[in-house]
Amino acid sequence: MTKKWVYTFSEVDKAEEYGGGEWEGVRGFLGGKGANLAEMTRIGIPVPPGFTVTTEACNAYLEAGGTFPEEMWEQEKDALEKVERETGKKFGDTKNPLLVSCRSGAKFSMPGMMDTVLNIGLNDKTAKAIAKLTGDERFVYDAYRRLVQMFGSVVMDMPGEVFEEVLTKARDKAGVETDTELKAEDWKAVTDEFKSIFKRYTNKDFPTDPYEQLKMATEAVFKSWNGKRAIDYRNAAKISHNLGTAVNIQTMVFGNMGDDCATGVALTRNGTTGENQIEGDYLINAQGEDVVAGIRLTEDLRKLKEEMPSIYDEFEQISHRLEKHYRDMQDVEFTVEKGKLWMLQTRDGKRTAQSAVRIAIEMAEDGLITREEAVMRVTPEQVDFFLHPQFDRKTTEAAKDTGNLLATGLNVSPGAAFGVVAFDADLAEAWAKKEGKQVIMVRPETKPDDVHGMLAAQGILTSRGGRTSHAALVARQFGKPAVVGVSELDIDMGRRQMKVKDVVIKEGDWISIDGTSGEVYAGKLETVVPDIKDPLLLKLLTWADEFRRLGVWANADYPSDAQRARDYGAEGIGLCRTEHMFFEAERLPFVQKMIMTDSSSEQREALNALLPFQREDFAGLFRAMDGLPVIIRLIDPPLHEFLPNHVDLIRELADLKLRLQHCGKLEEIDELLSQINTKERILKRVESLSEQNPMLGLRGVRLGIHIPELTIMQVRAIFEASCLVAKEGVDVHPEIMIPLTCHVNELKVQREVLETEAKKVMEKQGIEIDYKFGTMIEIPRAALTADEIAEYASFFSFGTNDLTQTTFGISRDDAEASFLVEYMEKGILPDNPFATIDRNGVGELMKIAVKKGRAIKPDLECGICGEHGGDPQSILLCHELGLTYVSCSPFRVPVARLAAAHAVLREGKTE
Ligand code: ADP
Ligand code: MG
Ligand code: MG
Repeated sequence: MTKKWVYTFSEVDKAEEYGGGEWEGVRGFLGGKGANLAEMTRIGIPVPPGFTVTTEACNAYLEAGGTFPEEMWEQEKDALEKVERETGKKFGDTKNPLLVSCRSGAKFSMPGMMDTVLNIGLNDKTAKAIAKLTGDERFVYDAYRRLVQMFGSVVMDMPGEVFEEVLTKARDKAGVETDTELKAEDWKAVTDEFKSIFKRYTNKDFPTDPYEQLKMATEAVFKSWNGKRAIDYRNAAKISHNLGTAVNIQTMVFGNMGDDCATGVALTRNGTTGENQIEGDYLINAQGEDVVAGIRLTEDLRKLKEEMPSIYDEFEQISHRLEKHYRDMQDVEFTVEKGKLWMLQTRDGKRTAQSAVRIAIEMAEDGLITREEAVMRVTPEQVDFFLHPQFDRKTTEAAKDTGNLLATGLNVSPGAAFGVVAFDADLAEAWAKKEGKQVIMVRPETKPDDVHGMLAAQGILTSRGGRTSHAALVARQFGKPAVVGVSELDIDMGRRQMKVKDVVIKEGDWISIDGTSGEVYAGKLETVVPDIKDPLLLKLLTWADEFRRLGVWANADYPSDAQRARDYGAEGIGLCRTEHMFFEAERLPFVQKMIMTDSSSEQREALNALLPFQREDFAGLFRAMDGLPVIIRLIDPPLHEFLPNHVDLIRELADLKLRLQHCGKLEEIDELLSQINTKERILKRVESLSEQNPMLGLRGVRLGIHIPELTIMQVRAIFEASCLVAKEGVDVHPEIMIPLTCHVNELKVQREVLETEAKKVMEKQGIEIDYKFGTMIEIPRAALTADEIAEYASFFSFGTNDLTQTTFGISRDDAEASFLVEYMEKGILPDNPFATIDRNGVGELMKIAVKKGRAIKPDLECGICGEHGGDPQSILLCHELGLTYVSCSPFRVPVARLAAAHAVLREGKTE
């Protein structure tokens, strides 16, 4: 028996059987659009009859190099016959002809990425028949010319402009502004003109046989799967290339048969804010494409309530039903034909981060979904978005006062962005990628070919289009700030400039757009990163906390960072880098003095001068983290980092010597000589400290062993601060961490030093401090000998940046600027290992370390500090390894909380 390639919309049960009874299977098989059209048919929602040719057929066609699989076309014709019986019309008939659309639809929605042909089945004879039936010649020839136009551009790859030109001429000739004013005669002439252009471009007559039209359109949809824009889109949205697209053939319904007809698109809730209110656009007397293309100015759906109250009611009911059925916000397309409502599509709607959170929470509170589902509905990237730049109120007020507010449009994708104006996608991409410019892409409206430019741009601005326009959908999906439908923008593509009121903005000029408010400003406005005060987000994160097992800590060097981390929900400080404290202006001289001297008494003196500063820093941190653990890492970087740079020193010395040669005054000569002397001493020291591979040199624990006073001073500062705040009533839990350990003996030595000093301080202060002593694991040898190390450490913290460098044997700073990029482009490495932990290498070492360490100390605290701690994929790995916590920058804490919950909720589920 041959395979079933074609399913009518009422055969979803059969498709389900074939797909193993799983809805996901059906979606993969019939594509999202086809599966949902069939599902709507099953639950009794009015859908024009039709059928779906499967994605399998598409893949078979493409694999065979462009031939239909056996029996597919026959099955397509059989299905068409069923539709004929259902509608009482006949394809190609000269009395009551059936017209159909041919629509693509892959498993994952790719708005506008592939092609659709409407009004298939029209030719001179059927057109006459419909004209007679409807008595509306104008409508028929408008539909006919659309078929020729779409067929030409979609099936035959003709450039769209050639058709546009004819339309412009027709309007001029008739002396009208818009297409709606053109009459039957005009459309007839346009249709003929289109057909002759078709012949000129393709060397073939426009096919008059409806079956020929259908066959060619089916093929065109199959082929569009491998079109450039579809491939670009899949790359950007990380959709697999081997899924294929289904083809949906559906009875045409007409929104352009008069004023009791309409067509529109809507979201069942607000896609920007998440408010539980339908939003959408529609047009009276128009065909589907007109709304999304932004050619005509659309109406707000709320107006439909007045214009067609009963249709609106029915639409509202269907929206609610669809939401209940799919348990998510829906993006729907509909058409009203002579007072009858038809649903043409439904799918889960794209939404902003803010909207995703609100919808998830409200649906969970209404009992439509569970809390687990609500948490899963929001992605870590969306949480991250809440922390993205916005314009400061003061800045925008000032810009308004100075007349720099140009215009206001629709706020379709939130966030602030500034950049130089680029009027086309290629230029936007070139400027952003090749010249590193920040770009705002400005277009009258966007099309699927523009996506590469939109992705490269900081933000998107259009003069036309509504909330559901292409620009809005794409911007929301990729989290780009966007303002659309700014009708005051007068874009002159010829001169590469735009005018708003009297202001002229040229290509390359700076503008700023606010996707949250819809405002457009001239110039470059400052942005600020907001606090995550959104109560709904906070609620969602609290729900996430209920599910996660992984702790979320933060890296913070200063009390203010620690406070922010705590506000964002951090449960401890996983890394405080002490060296940052050494770099501050008032302290650096002491640090340098300590490094410069060979006398240990001078060294001690310098360190003693530093001690009060460090003590104060630690005390501040402990106060902010009252009751929570704070891991303080002893000094890590090589000492030369605290001294001036070699090249600078040489240049300064040369300058001083030159000045000396030209100097006449005695006291100045003395001064210069003394400066030269100092610089020469520093230079000497810099040279003696210089190493071939500083990353592998005298740093980390090696420094503490080389200069024991350094460890002593830091330990004393930590314990004095602990005692100080403990006396104030702070519940303090310091954890002292040794960096770059390779051998257990290093720890033995340092622990001895630490314990002696700690004891001294605590005895003197008369207080016992609850502290821990532990180490970073950032050298493969430490991971491999973790059992030995665990004897002397009560916690491990993976420094995955150094561990990645030492495992791969590559230096990050050099590699990321050169061959690593090439490695990723060539697919040699799947991800940048410095952004996402390399599971098989670095991850394996971590696994060994955790296992060996916990074999000695079952309750060994194991965490990770460093950038990987805020990366969702790496967090998943940390969860699997059973780490105690991840520690990341304060700004990533909310993201990590959600990602850690996702890790739990995903357990046992394969994706
Ligand atoms: P896309 O995937 O780009 O959204 P669609 O297949 O949804 O493409 O088609 C685009 C538009 O064409 C739809 O929004 C709808 O308005 C119109 N359309 C498609 N099929 C029909 C039909 N059978 N009757 C009326 N309009 C249709
Ligand atoms: Mg659609
Ligand atoms: Mg390190």
